[in-house]
Amino acid sequence: MLNFRASHLTDCPHCGGTDTVEHPSPLWRWALLPAWTLIAATCMAASLIGPMIIGLLPFLFAWAVCLLSSLYDRGYEPPNCDVCGKMVVKPFANTIPSRDVPALADRGELAA
Ligand SMILES: [Zn+2]
Repeated sequence: MLNFRASHLTDCPHCGGTDTVEHPSPLWRWALLPAWTLIAATCMAASLIGPMIIGLLPFLFAWAVCLLSSLYDRGYEPPNCDVCGKMVVKPFANTIPSRDVPALADRGELAA
């Protein structure tokens, strides 16, 4: 029977656990759209208060940077393994360049 599960996305290359890799929720990336919209709307609204915006700009800038950096960090963090806690930056098959595979196989490093 064929198995079409994308195991390279859910299996840990460090501890060999199957279905242990947790990816960040796509909702964090979707939250970027309302965040950018809110920031744009806040800038438009702040521009209506006139010269007083000079005192408000540092706080607006700090608020926008904190909001966006936290959302980008959460949305694009590398997946983690639940068992060993290590980051799975790339699938194991792509971490070894194809030209190095025969050399590593000859040394017995791909036996496990
Ligand atoms: Zn692991």
